[in-house]
Amino acid sequence: MPYRVTLIPGDGIGPELAEATRRVLDASGVGFEWDVEEAGEAVMAAEGTPLPERVLDSVRRNGLGLKGPITTPVGEGFRSVNVGLRQALDLYANLRPARSLPGVVTRYDGVDLVIVRENTEDLYAGIEHRVGPDAAESIKIITRGASERIARFAFEYAAANGRRKVTAVHKANIMKLSDGLFLEACRTVAADYADRIEFEDRIVDNMCMQLVQKPELYDVLVLPNLYGDIVSDLAAGLVGGLGVAPGANIGTNAAVFEPVHGSAPKYAGQDRADPTAMILSGVLLLRHVGEIAAAERVELALRTVLAEGRHVTRDLGGGAGTSEMATAICDVLAAAPAAT
Ligand code: NAD
Repeated sequence: MPYRVTLIPGDGIGPELAEATRRVLDASGVGFEWDVEEAGEAVMAAEGTPLPERVLDSVRRNGLGLKGPITTPVGEGFRSVNVGLRQALDLYANLRPARSLPGVVTRYDGVDLVIVRENTEDLYAGIEHRVGPDAAESIKIITRGASERIARFAFEYAAANGRRKVTAVHKANIMKLSDGLFLEACRTVAADYADRIEFEDRIVDNMCMQLVQKPELYDVLVLPNLYGDIVSDLAAGLVGGLGVAPGANIGTNAAVFEPVHGSAPKYAGQDRADPTAMILSGVLLLRHVGEIAAAERVELALRTVLAEGRHVTRDLGGGAGTSEMATAICDVLAAAPAAT
């Protein structure tokens, strides 16, 4: 049976990357049926909402989504579709691996981090208001339930993927009640895994400094929403930047896979954006549904193309377009078909 997946092409560079990723996943030997659903800026203009109920229904039905980036107006306009999707479908875990890639020149070698970000609360709960003309308040929500749930996700991920350590990241020295509760919840969950997985915690500012000095000391990080957003971009920077950083939003009943980067409007329609992050998001989808052999074949084909460096996009030092790079990956897959 093919996997039915909701494909949300998104805004800006999204449609080109979605097409490239779809071609690569179709070449993986795994069967897919793509349920294409538009969301974002153009849909806002046509349907009055950037995230119509039909898109959510499709992901609910299929349980799987692959999404391109969607533009969010700054300071005004509609609320982030990305945040809305995560909240509506309770996609509580944001998984962002950051692993060094061959041929991608960076200051670091051998980085292999996994960022697990709580996706539903913290300052991203969207509860903010003006207090008179010259002040505004945003409310930071941290609950024991959501904190224990994300900590358990991080430990389960670590256990299932042979990882050795989970580090909880917080600012509990200052926000003693909210971040203090997050840390307490992580400690409670860590006790259940004490025989298998090491646990430690770090204050977020110190964590940032340590990650740029000695990223090899860290393994799986678990963070509340805002720190998770920031630290995962930092981790993306360690391995080559936004063009190569994949992500997954995982809930109990559905999961949506998307690159960490945004819609990069200045590159839209130019066939020059790097498809690596979205293809690696597709690899996370394959792993999520248990198609491990196909996931490894696609990742190896991508790594082969990156290492050769002849068909890579400009951000990676090459001259290829998005579609040429995708074709090169499909060619590697075709040259080494899946065992039947
Ligand atoms: P961005 O990630 O779109 O772009 C920042 C820069 O990174 C680009 O100018 C480009 O130089 C580079 N870049 C990003 N992706 C690339 C790729 N695949 N290939 C090559 N270079 C790439 O960030 P931004 O400019 O801050 O945001 C643009 C829009 O995207 C905003 O509206 C923002 O809200 C939205 N956004 C959406 C998501 C999402 O859909 N999940 C995530 C982040 C930002």
